[in-house]
Amino acid sequence: MGRVATVNNIINFSCVDGPGSRLVIFMQGCNFNCKNCHNPYTIDMCDSCGDCVASCPASALSLTHNAQGKPKVEWHSELCTQCDTCLSTCPKQSSPKTRQYSVPQMLALIRKQVFFINGITVSGGEATLQLPFIIELFQAIKNSDDLSHLSCMIDSNGYLATNAWQQVMPYLDGAMIDLKSWQQQTHRYITNRDNHRVFASLKLLAEQDKLYEIRLLHIPGVSDFDSEIDAVASYLKQLPASVRVKLNAFQQHGVTGEARLWESCTEQQMQTLAARLTEHGVGNLILPNVYL
Ligand code: SF4
Ligand code: SF4
Repeated sequence: MGRVATVNNIINFSCVDGPGSRLVIFMQGCNFNCKNCHNPYTIDMCDSCGDCVASCPASALSLTHNAQGKPKVEWHSELCTQCDTCLSTCPKQSSPKTRQYSVPQMLALIRKQVFFINGITVSGGEATLQLPFIIELFQAIKNSDDLSHLSCMIDSNGYLATNAWQQVMPYLDGAMIDLKSWQQQTHRYITNRDNHRVFASLKLLAEQDKLYEIRLLHIPGVSDFDSEIDAVASYLKQLPASVRVKLNAFQQHGVTGEARLWESCTEQQMQTLAARLTEHGVGNLILPNVYL
């Protein structure tokens, strides 16, 4: 079957994951452990322990074994009612509701949508954990007469090493990179990782004219873009003027653990941050349309 990707979800049409209308592939697995994650079941890979199988009220899960006796949880999507009992049962906070796709299978899906989309975006989880698949997929798209007009974008937490970015760069049209906080300590508190590599990715992508968007997550009282406004504005202003600066408002709905105690970012708080960035000369700001 060749190289395969483990995919949590595919959306045939999105207009918020890069330019124009896009097919978006959400990969399973992430190397951050963000307290604010709205979909924590995309973080870990399922190890087919089988614990969730009996909990499924629709009998949509089963445990099989291959010739070597290795267990494999099968998800029967036609029976699934999306009750999410399996997600709350899983001791790893993973999901049995993933699918594996080879590059030819993914190309077939893309071809079904090709007349309705401007490109594809790989997202997650953290898409770049499955970089070899992404490179093969992007390469195949760029080398196909009927698909080569599609732009290929990556939505990432920016933790990918510089030499790995270089491998995908020839086939990459642009990237959207999250910056979860300015100070190391705050970034580590929110994500469990520091942000040195995120800044290195932003620098590299900007230099190569592949940075489409930087995304700043505003968590009032937790993230530090407002308290570090001078430094943040200076940094954003030295990026190419074409880079979109997208402000994301933290919303408590759907998060777990400690983040349930954090206050949601209101439209007023977001407007205040945007106004301060504008006063400091930052342009190309994109604000959220919806506050839950
Ligand atoms: S969401 Fe999970 S538990 Fe619920 S029906 Fe689907 S597979 Fe079963
Ligand atoms: S989803 Fe979780 S509980 Fe279910 S088989 Fe995978 S690791 Fe085990």
